[in-house]
Amino acid sequence: MRALRRLTVRASLPEALRPLSQLVTNLRWSWHWETRDLFEALDPELWESCGGDPVKVLGEVSAERLATLAEDPEFLRRMHAVAEDLRTYLDAPHWYQSLGDGAPASIAYFSAEFGITEVLPQYSGGLGILAGDHLKAASDLGVPLIGVGLLYRSGYFSQGLSPDGWQLEHYPALDPHGLPLKLLREPDRTAVVISVPLPEGRTLHAHVYRAQVGRVSLLLLDSDIEENAPAERGVTDRLYGGGEDHRLRQEMLLGVGGVRAVRAFCSLTGTPQPEVFHANEGHAGFQGVERIRELTESHGLSFSEALQAVRGGTVFTTHTPVPAGIDRFPKALIERYFAGFGVPVEQLLPLGAEEDPSKFNMAHMGLRLGQRANGVSQLHGHVSRDMFGALWPGFDADDVPISAITNGVHAPTWTARELLELGTQSTSQGDPATVQGDVHFDGVDRIDAGVLWGTRRLLRARLVEEVRRRVRATALSRGAAEAELGWTETAFDPDVLTIGFARRVPSYKRLTLMLKDPARLKALLLDTDRPLQLVIAGKSHPADDGGKQLIQQMVKFADDPEIRHRIAFLPNYDIGMARYLYWGCDVWLNNPLRPLEACGTSGMKSALNGGLNLSIRDGWWDEWFDGQNGWAIPTAEGVSDHDRRDEVEAQAIYELLDRQVLPRFYEVDADGVPTRWVEMIRDTLRETGPKVQATRMVRDYVEQLYVPAAGAARAMADGGYEAARSEASWRSHVLENWHGVRVAHVEATGVGETPEIGGGIDLRAEVELPGLTPHDVLVEAAFGRVDDADGLHQVTTVPMAHETTEGSRHWFSATVPLTRTGAFGYTVRVLPHSEHAAVPAELGVVVNA
Ligand SMILES: *Cc1c(COP(=O)(O)O)cnc(C)c1O
Repeated sequence: MRALRRLTVRASLPEALRPLSQLVTNLRWSWHWETRDLFEALDPELWESCGGDPVKVLGEVSAERLATLAEDPEFLRRMHAVAEDLRTYLDAPHWYQSLGDGAPASIAYFSAEFGITEVLPQYSGGLGILAGDHLKAASDLGVPLIGVGLLYRSGYFSQGLSPDGWQLEHYPALDPHGLPLKLLREPDRTAVVISVPLPEGRTLHAHVYRAQVGRVSLLLLDSDIEENAPAERGVTDRLYGGGEDHRLRQEMLLGVGGVRAVRAFCSLTGTPQPEVFHANEGHAGFQGVERIRELTESHGLSFSEALQAVRGGTVFTTHTPVPAGIDRFPKALIERYFAGFGVPVEQLLPLGAEEDPSKFNMAHMGLRLGQRANGVSQLHGHVSRDMFGALWPGFDADDVPISAITNGVHAPTWTARELLELGTQSTSQGDPATVQGDVHFDGVDRIDAGVLWGTRRLLRARLVEEVRRRVRATALSRGAAEAELGWTETAFDPDVLTIGFARRVPSYKRLTLMLKDPARLKALLLDTDRPLQLVIAGKSHPADDGGKQLIQQMVKFADDPEIRHRIAFLPNYDIGMARYLYWGCDVWLNNPLRPLEACGTSGMKSALNGGLNLSIRDGWWDEWFDGQNGWAIPTAEGVSDHDRRDEVEAQAIYELLDRQVLPRFYEVDADGVPTRWVEMIRDTLRETGPKVQATRMVRDYVEQLYVPAAGAARAMADGGYEAARSEASWRSHVLENWHGVRVAHVEATGVGETPEIGGGIDLRAEVELPGLTPHDVLVEAAFGRVDDADGLHQVTTVPMAHETTEGSRHWFSATVPLTRTGAFGYTVRVLPHSEHAAVPAELGVVVNA
């Protein structure tokens, strides 16, 4: 028989052990070793069999054991110390508390996925893990963030393998009561119910679960409740499953329901309402539409007035340079779903307009709703400015208002404990794990090379144990008999160079690039003097058969009895497995098709453990490869034939391994320490370590985006949204009259016969502004290097001052400094000028001379 429903029954806690219930519900345990130690001490065997999951352990520990512990003074002392430590962590002022009143009172952070711990499997890959790390680092820094997402009843999927290596998907049913979540309730203890209107008079309802991530609350909406009709109950069934209709319902619940959940949460808990709303990717875009609707109702604003108010306080982060990865819906579907929503559909649709008139583009809506937007590495910022440039016609890519903040990873979550402890002994700054959440390795040069290498070996050996355990379990699940599995006991070797490759399996990440020359790879694996071993993992999206074929190809290669002790594909890549890989791999391999990896974060996690990256210069590695922290695989980006490009890049990997990586690893001193390799580890920890941390990333978000966004939101809201009203009417006035704007004439004086550096050109421009005034515009002189086709590059601009006016004709002037030798060019351009624009390109119109 199968159970209709499942629930978790746990022993009631003796009074003396009450603090455990707060400790288990605060997910700080997912990165705080002392708290984990305490749960392990509850029942070490159970801890082992529950895979180190405190919630499970507390759910299954026997009443007798609890009664014993309730009288164990040593255990009680430890428990109180850990509980006190958590209280201090939650209450003490951190970095954010020093910022003053300009910083937003709270920030809502929306994401379709959150990866915080393997116990809460609400993520598919990097996007979700990044969101989880964002919350954790915000907590460490005291940033008042509220996370908003969905509670998927089957999470993503857990991955198995068929006997012939085909990916199998299992969807385990999660019981919210067995998870570290609390239901959000009204003062009368009934569950808060969020409602979102659907077409044909239907309504989607949801409960709100709250996960506590240190100081940060994460709200997860769950549609699997009795108030819903059967069709609506399934909306939050799984992550990235179902067709367009299903996905749109999910995104309406995330965006619209998410705002409603935040409103309820803030008013029930006395939390300040957010001043800034951050949409992590396009999926949560409808949060802006809901806030527009709110303002039209509460303050009688028109759609375009409310849009101005909402834009100021909205931040949008784009994560994909792969056009196919962008979320789009048929426009007709949006029309149907929003017909009765409460905003004029004909004004909503232009927010998602794109090249294809039948489509509604969620990334485009994100950019139009967010006054501030960013990509997730410097290179990705660059690529995004090109990719979305069409939204700002007439502007060069450099003017496109998409900035870049490079991703980071939460060091206390991803750094091996042994390394943290080594760092503690050597750092100049106290406990490295608690100083504002950063992990410091500035003292790494003082650690003895033998000791550092010993720790690396220990971590590699731990990975080898884990690989053996998983290889064995996988073989059994694929139908092997116990008696055939003797080989797994000696598979992999704690003294062999270990390379990791683990990530999702979209084609641009090229899982099988290393198989381009199978014989060459085999020779590298089996070399008698300097072998290498490879651990590989990754899930393919259930609908992507191409990805599953790549996995199958890899599995079949690794099944070969001749090499299976040196290469393994481990199914079900998740946070729990990933940790062992980041801790134990010597080299982290990444070979995406440049520039399609927006950032990539797994290599950062490896670096925080002294792993050396061997990677194409894409994403973060393009920025922070420094010649000492690993190796850059040369890219054949110009080669348009994909097969040929793969060939060239694969050869480059084999060559690097053969000539540089392997010799350096196996070149040891009299004590068996590879001293040059250890120097690279030190460089990685010392130089790369501080950059790749999520605390650095969150500080960047706060300073570059959240604080200015809060300022803009406040300016718009002042005096009953007076500025939003006047800005909206000014914008429509400017846009209506823009067609008449023209640079009629530009004259230059003071150039002389032979222009010399240090000199200047006096520019005078005559500009026609019918219907507008000189105050409405910014006239700029733009200058820089000029190419053979008169294209301007490395452009600098200076504002031109208004001189005189005759009717609708106006004269502006400026001096252009001759700052460079060689080909030099200049021009004049006119842009709308508003004190409320973050950048002049914001209105998307410009007139060039
Ligand atoms: C870090 C991480 C990812 C993302 O890795 P990328 O390098 O960005 O592809 C995916 N899954 C897990 C489990 C991770 O820990």
